[in-house]
Amino acid sequence: MITWTTLAGTGGPTFAVLSALTLLFGVTAAVAVVFHIRGSRRRIREKKQEIIFRKKLFDLLTESTEDIFILFSPENFEAEYISPNLDRVLGLDTETIRRDLRPLLFEPAPGGSGQTPTQETLSAIPMGGTWTGERDIFHTKTRELRWFKQIIHRCTLEGSERLILMLSDRTHERQMYEALGEALHTARAANQAKSNFLANMSHDIRTPMNAIVGFSVLLDKNAENPERVREYTRKIAYSSQHLLSLINDILDMSKIESGKTSLNLTEFSLPEMMEELYTMILPQTRTKGQDLELYTKGQLPELLLGDKLRLNQVLINLLSNGVKYTQEGGHIALTVQALEQNAPGRAHLRFQVADNGFGMSETFVQNIFDPFAREETEHTREIQGTGLGMAITKNIVDLMGGAITVQSRLGEGSAFTVELELTIAGGERDDAFWQRRGITRLLVVDDEEDVCRNIQSAMEGTGVETAYATRGEEAVELAARAHEQGRGFHIILLDWNMPGMNGVETARRIRSQVGRDAPILALTSYDLEEARQAAGSETGIELFLLKPFFVSSLQRAVSQLEGREDVKPDPDSPAPGEASLAGLKVLAAEDNEINAEILLELLEMEGIRCEIVPNGREAVERFAHSQAGEFDAIFMDIQMPVMDGYEAAQAIRTGDHPLAKTIPIIAMTANAFEEDVQAALAVGMNAHTAKPIDMEQLKAVMVQLLRPEDKGPS
Ligand code: ADP
Repeated sequence: MITWTTLAGTGGPTFAVLSALTLLFGVTAAVAVVFHIRGSRRRIREKKQEIIFRKKLFDLLTESTEDIFILFSPENFEAEYISPNLDRVLGLDTETIRRDLRPLLFEPAPGGSGQTPTQETLSAIPMGGTWTGERDIFHTKTRELRWFKQIIHRCTLEGSERLILMLSDRTHERQMYEALGEALHTARAANQAKSNFLANMSHDIRTPMNAIVGFSVLLDKNAENPERVREYTRKIAYSSQHLLSLINDILDMSKIESGKTSLNLTEFSLPEMMEELYTMILPQTRTKGQDLELYTKGQLPELLLGDKLRLNQVLINLLSNGVKYTQEGGHIALTVQALEQNAPGRAHLRFQVADNGFGMSETFVQNIFDPFAREETEHTREIQGTGLGMAITKNIVDLMGGAITVQSRLGEGSAFTVELELTIAGGERDDAFWQRRGITRLLVVDDEEDVCRNIQSAMEGTGVETAYATRGEEAVELAARAHEQGRGFHIILLDWNMPGMNGVETARRIRSQVGRDAPILALTSYDLEEARQAAGSETGIELFLLKPFFVSSLQRAVSQLEGREDVKPDPDSPAPGEASLAGLKVLAAEDNEINAEILLELLEMEGIRCEIVPNGREAVERFAHSQAGEFDAIFMDIQMPVMDGYEAAQAIRTGDHPLAKTIPIIAMTANAFEEDVQAALAVGMNAHTAKPIDMEQLKAVMVQLLRPEDKGPS
């Protein structure tokens, strides 16, 4: 070790050496300091660059996302950092927000929902802790509400407290979530509806089945008691009918739903259709003591081209529901109105079925057309139904290109409106009809002023001036005055059933005032025959017309009076379908023994002899070997072993029997859809009847094919 003693001892270092060493140390230190300073500056520069780079990177990242980041002081709510996507995501000005974050942070969006933080919310966030919520925020430029997740986090930065607000746009996710929720709800509801339906079906099918099985047993036990037998068979027949209509509904529904239904357009008469509807529904309303009214409005065409069966089905469904869901003594009305035409040659029609019955709740009405939907209230609980009728109805109306709407109020009643367009058939109205006969003045008498006005509007353009009276007395006065002035009415059309002076009395008085000047016709909602009998022959009423009024019905009545045609059918001539079929002989192909037995018995009751063969092949062979005239007709089941009905019919038609081409072949099958009818006709059969056998229908078909001359007036 070198010590100063040793150096001193050897004479020691000189001052110059010491100075040089000091200088060397000094320079070295200076150089080191310079290097150090330069290094620090470089590091600071690098750090700054890194900070800038990171900010740019962060800006870039946030720019491309829907998430907004804001760093702010909880003291004064000034923002130190705002991600640059603020304007794009929320349409907000960065500078305004930078100065004061409170409006964005605390103010809820007008009309929006969710959770907006408060000052207390912020204060409650601990250091390092987070608050999370979701809410709507208004986009100031697109003016839409968007759904945001908000996260607020408390932290320290450089020794002072800061809050970080993160807003994350979840609108899309929320919409998806809601859609999924809805889909799930729909799926659950459908599943529930299906379960309800199966439970209902099981109950609805079992109820009539139970009756059929039960009464069959009772029938067997009481075979010797004719009264009981009659009662049980009536109940069995009723239950079977119910079961059949239930099955028909289910099949119809599933067929329409699978898109397999097409419309079958034919020409039909609107007045006839309404008359048929009336006749069909009247017995139901009578049982419940309800009144049924049919009205027409506007200038309705008589002949239309459309699917009459399906239109009927729609109106029958609506009318039967009207009856079913209306209390005893209630009121059901069908109004058919001609709306303004949208295209020449096309009738724009409105059918409305209204009742003053139980009505439906607003919520139920929204779902009324869903299959199996039924509303359970104290009134409807006991009423039988499947909830399929309205779904079928809506499907048919859609198929026809129409629209159906419902208005209803619980306890007040319902109105179903169907609007559709149908092609007008049979050309223009014959307005010259009236001029040719010199008919220019018509008097209408009806206590319902609306009915009078509707007749007046229907007669517009015919050249017939229509006056009306709403009371019998007024009508007598009007008719007498017009008669005195030499401007007597050419036709007087009376409502048969008026309060006060009724139709009969009014007619009598008018007759006594004006003599036999003008024909008096009566409009009635009742059975025509009933009305005729009730009126007797002395009233002066010449003819009865069924309501609602149609110009064409009045024309027909006038023609009838001119021709002095007897309106009453000849009581001796059999009604349609009543012609005697006794003595006919048929060949029937039927593989099911029970069905064969039923057919044999039913035909036997009509005096028709029948020979049964168990399949198509045997039917072909039996017919081929038969004498000409041995059989009058062939009944053909379709689904049979060995050879089906289609093949058999074709084989018969192409065979060389002298009657091969002409013998009537009637398909008699459980395949009852329209295409089954078409398929039967396509292979050369003459007609189609559905099983279970409806004897009246079968007889009508047979009369048409085998006794056309006995058909009676059609
Ligand atoms: P249902 O076989 O039950 O009668 P629908 O499909 O015809 O089936 O009708 C569905 C439901 O709509 C009925 O169960 C009933 O609750 C309600 N509804 C239909 N028509 C009427 C009406 N005219 N008045 C009150 N409720 C009705």
